[in-house]
Amino acid sequence: MKLFTLFGIEIRLDFSVVFIFALIVYSLGTGVFPSWHPGWPAGTVWSMALMAGLLFFASLLAHEMSHSLVARRFGIRVPRITLFLFGGMAEIETEAETPGEEFAIAIAGPLMSLAIAMICMLYASTAIEDSLVEVIMEDPETGMAEIGPFVTVCLWLGSVNLMLAIFNMVPGFPLDGGRVARAAIWQVTGDRLKATQLAANAGRLFGWLIMGLGFWELLALRSMGGLWLVLIGWFLSHLAAQSYAAVFTQNRLAPVTVADLMRTHFERVTGDTTVSRFVDECLLRSSQLMWPVMENGRCIGTASIEEVMKLPVDDRDTTTVREIALSLEASGVLDAALPAMEAMGALARRQDRPVPVVAGGEVVGLLRGADILKWLTLHGGEHRLAG
Ligand SMILES: [Zn+2]
Repeated sequence: MKLFTLFGIEIRLDFSVVFIFALIVYSLGTGVFPSWHPGWPAGTVWSMALMAGLLFFASLLAHEMSHSLVARRFGIRVPRITLFLFGGMAEIETEAETPGEEFAIAIAGPLMSLAIAMICMLYASTAIEDSLVEVIMEDPETGMAEIGPFVTVCLWLGSVNLMLAIFNMVPGFPLDGGRVARAAIWQVTGDRLKATQLAANAGRLFGWLIMGLGFWELLALRSMGGLWLVLIGWFLSHLAAQSYAAVFTQNRLAPVTVADLMRTHFERVTGDTTVSRFVDECLLRSSQLMWPVMENGRCIGTASIEEVMKLPVDDRDTTTVREIALSLEASGVLDAALPAMEAMGALARRQDRPVPVVAGGEVVGLLRGADILKWLTLHGGEHRLAG
C-alpha cells in the first residue's frame, strides 16, 4: 500500500504493519501505560498509546530514510521504502562501490535511531523537575506516576529507539551491524564476496542464537513470547543465507553478458510456412520452445506453441506463421551486449519464456531465465553458505 512520497522516495506500507501497530497500541494501552500511571483516565491512556504507536513508525521511517539519503548522496538510486512486520526496508538499488560508502550507508540508520533516543531522553530530563527525580530514585512507582503524558511517551520512544539502534548493530549480515562488519572486512581484505560470506555466516549464527533463546523460553519458562523469538531468529538466518546468495550471483554474473549465456543452437522458421507445417516439422520434432520468424533474412517476430494454440485447428492449413507471429517488441528482445544482471529483470517478467537475442539486427541466440541458473551451476555455482 502506497502512503506518500518523501524526498522523491515512495513510502510503502506492508499490511503486516497494521497488525504490529495494533499490537503495540494494545500492549501500551492495556499494560505499560496503566501500570506506570494508574491514575490516568482511559482517554489519556489510549490517545497516548496511539501517539506512541505513530511516533514509533515515524522513527522507523527516519531510520530507513537516513540509509536512503546517504545512499543517494553516493549516486545510488533508492526508489522506495517499505515498512513491514520486522521494521523497514529501503530498496537500495545497487551495492556500494567502496567499503567507505558501504560503511556510511549502513551506520546512518542506527545513528538516526540513537539520535532520536538521545533527543527523547534529553527532552525528558529537562522536562522532569529535580525534586521529582529524587522521588523517582526513592520510589519509582510513585515517581513515574507524576510524570506528564507527553514526557511518558518520550521516555518510551527513547528506550525503544535505543533498543532499535543496539539490535541493528549486531554484526550479522544483512543487519546494519553486519553491513558495517562487511565494510570493515572488505576494507582489510579487499574481497567483497569473502567479507559478505563472513558477515552472513555471523548473521546466520545470530539468527540461530535467537531461535535457541526462543526455544529455551518456550520449553523452560513455558512462555509463548519464545515463539516470537523463534520466528525472528528463523527469519534472520534465512535472510542472511538469501542475501549472501544474491551477492554471490551478482558477483559471478558481473563480467558476463547475454551473449555468454544464450543458446546458439536453434532453428528459425520462415514467415510463409503454414502453421500445420510449423507444427509437424518444428514444434513436434524439437525441444526448442520458441522460433524466430524470418522474412527476407530479417527476424520479424517469434512463434511458439502458445500462438499456435490460439488458432482454430481447422485454420492451420490456410494460415502462415507470419500471421500468428508475436511481434519482436512483444517478444521482449534482448541485446547480446547487455550485462547479464540487467537482463535478469527482463527475463523474470517473461516468466521463463525464451527471449530472442539480437546483435546488429540479426537474431543470434535465445535466452530464458533457467539458462542463467544453468550457467551458474556449470561455472561452479556453489552459492550456499559453508557450514
Ligand atoms: Zn537499518
